[in-house]
Amino acid sequence: MSAAPQNKRNTAEAAAAGAPPALASNFVRAIVADDNRTGKYDGRVVTRFPPEPNGYLHYGHAKSVQLNFGLAEENGGTCHLRFDDTNPLKEDVEYEESIEDAVRWLGHDWGTHLYHASDYYDQLYAFAEWFIEQGLAYVDSQSAAEMRATRGTLTEAGIAGPYRDRSVAENLSLFRRMKGGEFPDGAHVLRLKIDMASPNVNLRDPTIYRIRHAHHHRTGDTWCIYPLYDYAHAVSDALERITHSICTLEFQDHRPLYDWINDRLADGGMLTRPLPQQIEFARLNLTYLVLSKRKLIQLVADGHVDGWDDPRMPTLVGARRRGFTPEGFRLFNERIGVAKSDAWIDIGVLEDAMRDDLNASAQRRIAVLDPLRLVIDNYPEGRTETTSVPNHPQRPELGRRDLGFSRELWIERDDFAEVPPKGYFRLAPGAEVRLRYAYIVKCTGVEKDASGSVTVVHCTYDASTKSGTPGAEARKVKGNIHWLGVDEAVPAQVRLYDRLFRVPFPGARNPHGERAGGSGEPLPAPHLRVAGEDELETEPVERNYLDDLQPGSKRVVTAFVEPSLAAAPAEARFQFERAGYFVADREDHATGRPVFNRTITLKGKFNEK
Ligand code: ATP
Ligand code: MG
Repeated sequence: MSAAPQNKRNTAEAAAAGAPPALASNFVRAIVADDNRTGKYDGRVVTRFPPEPNGYLHYGHAKSVQLNFGLAEENGGTCHLRFDDTNPLKEDVEYEESIEDAVRWLGHDWGTHLYHASDYYDQLYAFAEWFIEQGLAYVDSQSAAEMRATRGTLTEAGIAGPYRDRSVAENLSLFRRMKGGEFPDGAHVLRLKIDMASPNVNLRDPTIYRIRHAHHHRTGDTWCIYPLYDYAHAVSDALERITHSICTLEFQDHRPLYDWINDRLADGGMLTRPLPQQIEFARLNLTYLVLSKRKLIQLVADGHVDGWDDPRMPTLVGARRRGFTPEGFRLFNERIGVAKSDAWIDIGVLEDAMRDDLNASAQRRIAVLDPLRLVIDNYPEGRTETTSVPNHPQRPELGRRDLGFSRELWIERDDFAEVPPKGYFRLAPGAEVRLRYAYIVKCTGVEKDASGSVTVVHCTYDASTKSGTPGAEARKVKGNIHWLGVDEAVPAQVRLYDRLFRVPFPGARNPHGERAGGSGEPLPAPHLRVAGEDELETEPVERNYLDDLQPGSKRVVTAFVEPSLAAAPAEARFQFERAGYFVADREDHATGRPVFNRTITLKGKFNEK
């Protein structure tokens, strides 16, 4: 699907050793290093992460967060968190809090540098009047349809509208009256006067202010005109003395406008040079997911998931609840690097990064997800032996704990087969298997219920085979299964999450990415996002992505877990041996009432039927 990540091996080794991933070079790091070398910004590195507080952050934002904060941290600089709150209709403080939490969770700190585009409304307004006074902005009173008609197309130049040559005095008066609330929404806009014939549509007199009689979550009813993104963003960056303004590729064609605005203001003595430089990188697209805000909202609103923090959602609140780690995201982002052109990354790359991080960091525990009773008929009734088991096979410093072995145990139902398929090395009538950390047992028979399903497996044990005792390994058996003592196992709710979608490109005409005609070569991008002003995507969707939801992507089971898991704190992450990685649920897990979410299966087990 995507090019193989080049530094995968290095980062996997680093993760296994518990070390942070090595920093691979990428073109953004190279630009910053170059600017430091030439002294362009006197060695300053100031970046910003500028989310619009109109939704929850997703996996793609993690890439932008780690890129921006990472560059600052690597260079002894600062990264600002700036809420780009220029659209009062869609924004809310609830989102701001969740975004702050997510950035902190990813391990970053903006210190005192928390800003809002709305902090600059007075200045943005003053600069707009300055543009008018310079003859560089005018009030346009055309309707939206008329403006569209005079703007031209990609191949045809635009033409001047009838209001383009209004006098400075008239423009100033109208603009002040717009601010004063004299006009309804849509009656007028303020446009920069650049070039209606520019081959770059963004330079054809872009609108920088519109009338919106709307309550803003910070400025209340102070304003009824609001600046547009390109204008507010360029000026905010410059006012904050940002050095490297990193954004996604769809803003490449906006860069000339970004520079035009800041250059003019700097020429007029309004801004300090050197001005920020905009650098574009490819947004993250991941297979088996949707990242579009509209779709995420629909998944929540229509109840396809349990909320924004459902572990199957690609939000950062979902990732956290699922047990994904900030380090896993860092590892992933280092592996995929920073590209200059859009590409799709296979979700497996993210899953592997999480596995590699968790493999290094998560302690091992035992859980039996689908319990079947095993009775060892020749083991004394009432006896319990403690067996000491390591918390991590490669990290003895993480210690050991005791499990109680007794006559009745829980084993996994699929570790027993009455009629074993070929190559089955686990328990079956007459077969022998090692109970991990304990004895070799031999199956002697079963009990069944009225419907014929197995309820109890009987076996005998060989007392000379206890793991860790002399001679125990003399007898070899191929199977090695986990178990829990019936007396000490604690029931737990375990939620088994799978991928939310069953195809790589949900809703795409080619959901599996094949070319028509079946060459097997994957299509690069069935639906890439294209930025517009308010509508940020156009997707040639010919199918409904909801049709690609995977049935049964959440299963809830009652499992048995070892006692230490029932006492684990919320959000503690573990590997359940042979089953995968699990996390104690943030919301519902409590001491004595354990609830675990499956983060990810062990490698190769995903989607195994
Ligand atoms: P919207 O579609 O509402 O604009 P957005 O995903 O662009 O949503 P923003 O709040 O504008 O959301 O994004 C904040 C920052 O995160 C921006 O700098 C944006 O470029 C970056 N970003 C958003 N999506 C991705 C992605 N998929 N990959 C990398 N960076 C992203
Ligand atoms: Mg955006």
